[in-house]
Amino acid sequence: MTDWVFDFVQGDKDSKDLLGGKGANLAEMTRLGLPVPPGFTITTEACRAYLADGVEPSALRVQVTMALRRLENQLGRRLGDVVDPLLVSVRSGAKFSMPGMMETVLNVGLNDYSVVGLAEAAQDKRFAWDSYRRLLQMFGRTVLGIDPEVFDHAWTTLQAGRSDTELSADDLVEAVERFKALILEHSGREFPQDPREQLDMSTRAVFDSWNTARARIYRRRERIPHDLGTAVNVCAMVFGNLGETSGTGVCFTRDPASGRTGVYGDYLPNAQGEDVVAGIRTPLAMEEFDRLDPKSAGELRTAMRRLETHYRDLCDIEFTVERGKLWLLQTRVGKRTPAAAFRIAAQLVDEQLITLDEALSRVTGQQFVQLMFPQFDQKATRHRLTTGLAASPGAAAGRAVFDSATAAAWAARGEDVILVRRETNPDDLEGMIAAVGVLTARGGKTSHAAVVARGMGRTCVCGAEELDVDPAARTATTSRGTFAEGDRIAIDGGTGEVLLGEVAVVESPVTRYLAEGLDAALRDADDETAELVRAVDRLLTHADEVRGLKVRANADSGDDARRARALGAQGIGLCRTEHMFLGDRRELIERVILAEGADRDEALAMLLPVQRTDFLDLLAAMEGLPVTIRLLDPPLHEFLPDRADLLVRVARAQERGEDSDVDTRLLAAVERLHESNPMLGLRGVRLGLVVPGLFKLQVRAVAEAAAELRAQGIDARPEIMVPLVGSAMELHLIRQEIVEVVAEVAAEHGVELTFPIGTMIELPRAALTADRIAEEAEFFSFGTNDLTQTTWGFSRDDVEAGFFATYLDKGVFTVSPFETLDEIGVGKLIEIAVERGRAKRPDLHLGICGEHGGDPVSIHFFHRVGLDYVSCSPFRVPVARLEAGRAAIEKLRGAASP
Ligand code: PEP
Ligand code: MG
Repeated sequence: MTDWVFDFVQGDKDSKDLLGGKGANLAEMTRLGLPVPPGFTITTEACRAYLADGVEPSALRVQVTMALRRLENQLGRRLGDVVDPLLVSVRSGAKFSMPGMMETVLNVGLNDYSVVGLAEAAQDKRFAWDSYRRLLQMFGRTVLGIDPEVFDHAWTTLQAGRSDTELSADDLVEAVERFKALILEHSGREFPQDPREQLDMSTRAVFDSWNTARARIYRRRERIPHDLGTAVNVCAMVFGNLGETSGTGVCFTRDPASGRTGVYGDYLPNAQGEDVVAGIRTPLAMEEFDRLDPKSAGELRTAMRRLETHYRDLCDIEFTVERGKLWLLQTRVGKRTPAAAFRIAAQLVDEQLITLDEALSRVTGQQFVQLMFPQFDQKATRHRLTTGLAASPGAAAGRAVFDSATAAAWAARGEDVILVRRETNPDDLEGMIAAVGVLTARGGKTSHAAVVARGMGRTCVCGAEELDVDPAARTATTSRGTFAEGDRIAIDGGTGEVLLGEVAVVESPVTRYLAEGLDAALRDADDETAELVRAVDRLLTHADEVRGLKVRANADSGDDARRARALGAQGIGLCRTEHMFLGDRRELIERVILAEGADRDEALAMLLPVQRTDFLDLLAAMEGLPVTIRLLDPPLHEFLPDRADLLVRVARAQERGEDSDVDTRLLAAVERLHESNPMLGLRGVRLGLVVPGLFKLQVRAVAEAAAELRAQGIDARPEIMVPLVGSAMELHLIRQEIVEVVAEVAAEHGVELTFPIGTMIELPRAALTADRIAEEAEFFSFGTNDLTQTTWGFSRDDVEAGFFATYLDKGVFTVSPFETLDEIGVGKLIEIAVERGRAKRPDLHLGICGEHGGDPVSIHFFHRVGLDYVSCSPFRVPVARLEAGRAAIEKLRGAASP
């Protein structure tokens, strides 16, 4: 029989697939003997079964009964009993944390009878009825789908201007009556008094919350597959709202924003956990907690140290103190900012808690990219409105917007916006994704806004309490000024500053390090920046030492090549020669294509010096390193005048009775060469075979440039690459031409010239016949842009903006296959090509030059299939170096990153 339910004592931290992150870590803490309230986890597998069938597996009910009995026996109390009742929380917990995206129901087990038992056991009637009304509110909203406004409105009416704490026990009894009536009115059914029914309904609601719109948006953004499902954790309730000796909080073993060591967190006395995360009251710092309750705070510090040592990483912890007794409700390896990730990894190496290999596995290419973003110029004049909490770093400048929908709408039309809210809740997710920064007036560093922003690398300042946000008027005011919707503001997620107007931004110190070296970046750097730059240097250097993949750049000019080389490129993997014919030079190619006979020869002759100069610059910039030059590839129409324009010009000229001879001839030629689907038409090697002399001219330019450089003592190393080959015969014919021309040039210059000749593999047929093609090629470079296009049959120019949003939504894939390689489809073809190609030619050199060459996830795949190098845009070279190192470590350790 399938095990659908596990007690906390049964699992461990490695069972996240089945128990979810929260469940696995609760189990781990239980094993460590830390004070975790007992409970059990219903597996993600049960969720998947429920979502597939629409009902829970029948054995699940039985297993829940058994687990509940064990829990009751252990505690000597029964769920929803009339005397000292056991109450439970029912919480979601997926494999990957999705903060605030799914549902939770607390105080399950309370009903009209057990509330009295709870009041007696706690010796606190007010607390018991307050807990009951919270259950009704949460259950009504989450399980029965009632609009939360319904309860909020009733609550405000009952308060009649008084604060929550001013309400008496009798007021809360009254609130319970009103809420029960509202449940009946709005759901058409009574609130279930049977505790077990409450539990089952809550479990189903948590399962269902896996598929809410906001959860789906979040997963799409974080690339979490839609088919994982969530686990459900049923845990004995402990209460942080039992008076002043109780409370609840969240803490980190290191600062997740800066990486600084030390205890860091928020504590709210006399409150339930939801109050901290919701950011409704601004909490106290940990030092205050030490003062208020030194015993619990001391125990917490001990537990924190144990957890950090155990996980050997930054942990975040949710805890509750119930009348002086500390309970840990959750821990996980904490989310952190990119800078903190690098600093913490280096710190843990220094503290001898992890090895350098492990440190490398703790940082990602994604994080590295974020560190390269520009920052505010510290010396620029700033009009500071106020300072809030520095919750997630970065420099964000844009127009202020006051609601999520406006943020999304303005961002869609290309505006940078900053979402300004009193506090955020999970429904603001869409706006947070759309905005470049998030600013809130309330809530601590662990509020929803802060946690979510940090997770997605969005700049965030929270808890700017001085800021009076008026969402109705769409303005925000402090004593130093006001801004309205559409006004330009800026937030500094590193300092917490909120600034009015434009603010200058400067290069990031990490970018300076990459371009100019360590010494330049350390000059004038403050301590924190210096620590960060040193951490980056250390991890990147280590990545370079361990990686097997070389990293080249896609570059088409000497400038790009020099930039790429400074960033660590070990050659050029793709020079797209067509980029050398943009702008005015396009007409040169146009003439070659349209002309015939002697005319064409003349046109070709004009091309030669231009191309030679290009290659001289490029090859010299990459002296001593390989430069893969690809012969002309793009679809014909890119070199021809626009057909529609020509039609109009000819028609106008005819109307006016003017001579349109040139245009008419041009139009006839364009009509003749017109293709319905140019991407699959006369391009690449096909063009080379159909237009005589074109490729020869390019090869001559390369060979002459190389000969000239070598005569100057410069070690030029071109490689010639033929695009869009589908058959060995195509390559054979072009190869003959190449060899011939290179030999001619060598003879003319009296030097020895031989260049590697290879091909792109970007058609399924090329991959499948790689053994035959390898007879003609010394190297393959996978053109995964076209290979993805032709394997899926997706037009690379149309589909992403067309229907990919729907495909992502429906879970056909979690990320566009043009962004991250589709390993099981396109990747399979690559594997076949590698195997067949190397079988024929064991020293076949293999690389990839499609966009995927710079994609962190795909690089791991290229490492695994045994390519020799990846090639990507110059800007992504450092990221590729880091990821190639991580891929090598992953293979050694046989494990993925945390
Ligand atoms: C490719 O197809 O992956 C490739 C690198 O070539 P291009 O993008 O120029 O078609
Ligand atoms: Mg291509």
